[in-house]
Amino acid sequence: MSNETQKKQRPPIVVLMGHVDHGKTTLLDYIRKTSVATREAGGITQAVGAYEIERNGRKITFIDTPGHEAFSAMRSRGAQAADLAILVVAADEGVKPQTKEAIKILEDTKTPFVVAINKIDKTGGNIEKVKNDLMGANVFLEGYGGQVSYQGISAKTGDGVEGLLDLVLLAADVEDLSYDPSAPATGYIVEASRDPRRGIAVSVIIKNGTLHRGDKVRTPSAAGKVKILENFLGKTVEDLEPSAPAVVIGFEDLPLVGEEFSAGETDSKEQEAIKKSSESVWKSGGGKENGKELKLVLKASDAGSLEALATVLKGIGEKDEKGILIVDESVGDITDSDVKNALATGAMIIGFKNRVEKGARNFADAQALTIVTSKIVYELADAVSEFLAGKRGPQAAGKLEILVIFNQGKLDKQLIGGRVTEGVIRGKPSFEILRIAENGAQEPVGSGKVLSLHEKKSEITQAEQGKEIGILVNSLVAMKVGDVLTVKK
Ligand code: GDP
Repeated sequence: MSNETQKKQRPPIVVLMGHVDHGKTTLLDYIRKTSVATREAGGITQAVGAYEIERNGRKITFIDTPGHEAFSAMRSRGAQAADLAILVVAADEGVKPQTKEAIKILEDTKTPFVVAINKIDKTGGNIEKVKNDLMGANVFLEGYGGQVSYQGISAKTGDGVEGLLDLVLLAADVEDLSYDPSAPATGYIVEASRDPRRGIAVSVIIKNGTLHRGDKVRTPSAAGKVKILENFLGKTVEDLEPSAPAVVIGFEDLPLVGEEFSAGETDSKEQEAIKKSSESVWKSGGGKENGKELKLVLKASDAGSLEALATVLKGIGEKDEKGILIVDESVGDITDSDVKNALATGAMIIGFKNRVEKGARNFADAQALTIVTSKIVYELADAVSEFLAGKRGPQAAGKLEILVIFNQGKLDKQLIGGRVTEGVIRGKPSFEILRIAENGAQEPVGSGKVLSLHEKKSEITQAEQGKEIGILVNSLVAMKVGDVLTVKK
């Protein structure tokens, strides 16, 4: 039998891309809820970074991570997990910066895509404007001088979603997506995390071959054996074929998201080749090593987030003449040893979707080491850009006037509200308290330390002049309305 006749058609692997808030998550949720055969899993689907649906007897695999971040992370490793993309554009907003970024990635990687014009249920949406915007961004839709198919949808009501799935299947027909079931499995890592009960759990998408329980698996950075193989519904299986998402338990180390994996007995030459191609891409995305780089220690809640963070920050570093140098990156909360590492290398710590352990926080404060954390990758990107531009020092000067005392039950945890009247309040600085005396002069009455800054209900990392915020402070002095807290540089 020739190779050709052994080949079988495989389902398309689809990623959603588009500007933030244009409805990627809502659409992925809608498709999952309405199309996944959840009967066997008792209606429960676990978040494994990908899922598979069936439409008219044909399967489609969706990469179910914040699409854009994951996709560019994968691209940075030269991997091509997705076969097709859905570019989501909200009808009420049209083409926005991240839409353009997504279009650029799709063009660069020559990934075929269809357009979903979302939120058509909303009044104020203007589909014609979206089409014009897209033309301006070099995307020519069918009937508008081009070949790119599109569908107006509402991810909220489901209107048009079936038509969109049909377009995806049509687009897949044009591509020759096939695989060899007898080959050892290869594919991509879409998620990796430490499961307290089971050890390292790795979600993969299989692109070729068949993955069996008992297979050896490896990526350029990790290896192991498939001890447990599960489909994306959490059901234990003996083997899986493309383009199925799978959960593999049995890796000995945490692989990186976007890496290619291969199963079976790979010969060392092949392994070396995978490793080399991956390394060269990795290095070209790294710092320029000119001695002026902004040094960073990156920590994130899980491998996918870490990968996304590294990709976004490297992008910034490449555009800046100083560049950035990532001295270390790992998964988990920020600990003492991260602080030590950062101090030893002169780096600052960037935390994504994680916490700073108490001891680490105290240690960092004592050493005036900068730690920036956020749940939003673009906030971290902005912070790094500002550090690069020299707009931010490790500590900034600022003043805050107290407008209200919320809770003074304990002096070491006073909750107050105030307005930043000068400069910036950043991080958890120490401050001096100035109080207006009877003679009208401002006199120092003591000092204290910021424990946390709050805006509305969320914790923030800094507040600029003019902002009204809540702050939790520790001080021996009971604060009073009208007191001014001053933070010195
Ligand atoms: P993402 O950032 O692209 O993942 O966007 P989300 O899926 O989180 O959607 C952002 C907001 O738009 C949410 O408040 C959604 O409820 C809303 N949204 C998403 N799709 C639609 C839609 O089709 N119609 C309307 N009216 N709202 C939508």
